[in-house]
Amino acid sequence: MGDSSVWDTPLKYLKGLGPRRAELLTELGLEKYQDLLEYFPRKYLDYAQITPISQARPDHEAVFRGKLGRFQVRALPGRSKALLVSSLYDGHAWMELVWYQGWEWIRQKFQTGQEVLAIGRPILRKNTLQIAHPDLISLTEGKLPETFLKVYPVYPLSEKLKQAQLDNKRLRMLFEELYRLTGFEMEDPIPESVRQQYDLMPLSEALRGIHLPTSVEEAERARYRFKFQEFFMLQVLLIRRKYFLKSHYAAPALTQVGPLVNLFYEKYLPFPLTEAQKRVIKEVRQDMKLSTPMNRLIQGDVGSGKTIVALFAALIAIGNGYQVALMAPTEVLAEQHARSFGRWLSPLGVSMGLLLGSTPPSQKKKILDRLYTGELACVIGTHTLFQKNVQYHRLGLTIIDEQHKFGVKQRAALWEKAHPYRPHNLLLTATPIPRTLALAVYGDVDVSIIDEMPPGRQPVRTLIRTEVHRREIWNLLRAELQKGRQAYIIYPLVEESEKLDLKAVEEGYHLVCQAFPEYKVGMIHGKMSSERKEREMQLFKLAQTQILVGTTVVEVGVDVPNATVLIVEHADRFGLSQLHQLRGRVGRGSHASYAIFIVPSEISDSAMARLQALAQYRDGFRIAEIDLKLRGPGDFLGTKQSGLPEFKIADIVEDQAVLRAARQAAQDLVQQDPSLQLYPVLRTYLTEYARKHSLELFTA
Ligand code: ADP
Ligand code: MG
Repeated sequence: MGDSSVWDTPLKYLKGLGPRRAELLTELGLEKYQDLLEYFPRKYLDYAQITPISQARPDHEAVFRGKLGRFQVRALPGRSKALLVSSLYDGHAWMELVWYQGWEWIRQKFQTGQEVLAIGRPILRKNTLQIAHPDLISLTEGKLPETFLKVYPVYPLSEKLKQAQLDNKRLRMLFEELYRLTGFEMEDPIPESVRQQYDLMPLSEALRGIHLPTSVEEAERARYRFKFQEFFMLQVLLIRRKYFLKSHYAAPALTQVGPLVNLFYEKYLPFPLTEAQKRVIKEVRQDMKLSTPMNRLIQGDVGSGKTIVALFAALIAIGNGYQVALMAPTEVLAEQHARSFGRWLSPLGVSMGLLLGSTPPSQKKKILDRLYTGELACVIGTHTLFQKNVQYHRLGLTIIDEQHKFGVKQRAALWEKAHPYRPHNLLLTATPIPRTLALAVYGDVDVSIIDEMPPGRQPVRTLIRTEVHRREIWNLLRAELQKGRQAYIIYPLVEESEKLDLKAVEEGYHLVCQAFPEYKVGMIHGKMSSERKEREMQLFKLAQTQILVGTTVVEVGVDVPNATVLIVEHADRFGLSQLHQLRGRVGRGSHASYAIFIVPSEISDSAMARLQALAQYRDGFRIAEIDLKLRGPGDFLGTKQSGLPEFKIADIVEDQAVLRAARQAAQDLVQQDPSLQLYPVLRTYLTEYARKHSLELFTA
């Protein structure tokens, strides 16, 4: 019964494995009996589903049945080791079987003429079907041995493991041995009430079902349980974190909508709000009424109008007598916000200051003093806002634009400025993350989505072109410049070869200067000092340069409505979401705009199809979904920054329904028993889980 000492036994003691193979497993991070349990099969083959060799499809793993042909040992030139070759004949067709290494035991165990099942992935080599290192199972009088399972789990095995005879068959033997030793008895971290409500197999049954299934259906049910478990553990962790943040910190309850909101809404609203904006403002308002800190992320495509939503939050806070700090990742962005906010706030008589790294000291001091006395209701700035010398009088709301550009610590430093309580937090991002992924990643943040564009936007015409079309592209660009418009030309920046890429940008810059001598061209890239970058951006904003050549530094929410052409060189090297973000740099005014993605002429069909999605869709969420499917969550988010553990069995894209169920279960459980007093097994499991994935664990 749940004897933990058995599970802690090093794998090398497991009968049938041996020290050498145990060593190989250690390289995969599998050390103890317990670790092997979570080495899940990637699929199952049903022995009853035998594929005739004549119908074998290259690269499709299948079960074949036939008689073994003659065994031949072949020495190949250039290979130190001879290989073993045989064949399988099913009465109609034949295929070749080959072993490159460690085949001595095959010769000992199998004879020519013997009837076997051969399992593996055939490939086509010199017009012959061939399976390398097939799993062979002997049949006696045409039957499987009685003790054999009818379903064959297929594990993710490398060539290296297979050559050490650590194949699917051996793994099954190991699991049989493990089962004999332990009965897979283990304490179940998922509480029984949850299992019952969501119809989940108990742990030991599920372990049997996933490794030693008697039917494919059983295996599927077992897999469901483990997918659920993976999502559930992460969700319990995130939801508890949210719970403890909310219960440990108090925020000012801003119960009044306040006089400013109504005044602004009735007299100064510059345009009717979209339905999406209204909905999100309501969600924010509801949060701010409470004495628990709001922690809300607003996601909205570039140009969807997040700024004015932030303004309404600010008006609520200021109207209730609190200060607001709005933080942006760059000076250009902060200045842009200051312009919008200044325009909106001044008729209301609300005081506002702009605090930048480049602000002269005397002016800085004035702003700091006024912040401290509370004379200043709103401050906009960059990382300046959370520096040590900044003291607020009554900070009630922080707004962080492009929140992913700031680190966890930087955001926390700003929030701590409201000591002893916490301000309400509003986070803004234009990087759309598909809803389910957002749930998984931001389990501790509430998410609002602005899924509607303000009316009257001209859609950006998206063109995908190769180098052959350079003349056409330059002509289009020239025509726009002649109309007085401006353009961005973007080059990729890949970290590993920063120097090369920098060269590409610089060369591109010179080419553009030569091609367009009558216009002023600016350049911007990550190797420049931030002052230099800011200056280049400023020149472009003021239309003193007409073309800006650069890297994705331009990506962040800069608003130059006069820019109508975006050209992206080597567009195939960008993620779809990133290209969509870049496209958002144009189409911000009333003029027709163009996004031109340039790709190499030898681009593959699949890469082309991927880019076509951009021409087809304008909705950032739609594009993000496609991007996520194509690249997986790790690449999509950049696993490191996301803080998302890798899932062993669950798939965020495919298993969205499971994620939703697991999240609901986690929510109910945490609500009922936040410190998990009633669930010591789960509690212990979570501690270990958090340690393993380096996630922060909150305890009461
Ligand atoms: P983003 O979500 O990318 O930060 P902004 O808040 O900068 O978008 O808004 C983009 C532009 O759209 C701004 O010029 C803004 O004034 C304008 N805008 C925002 N909401 C509306 C609306 N409801 N109707 C018309 N224009 C709007
Ligand atoms: Mg913005």
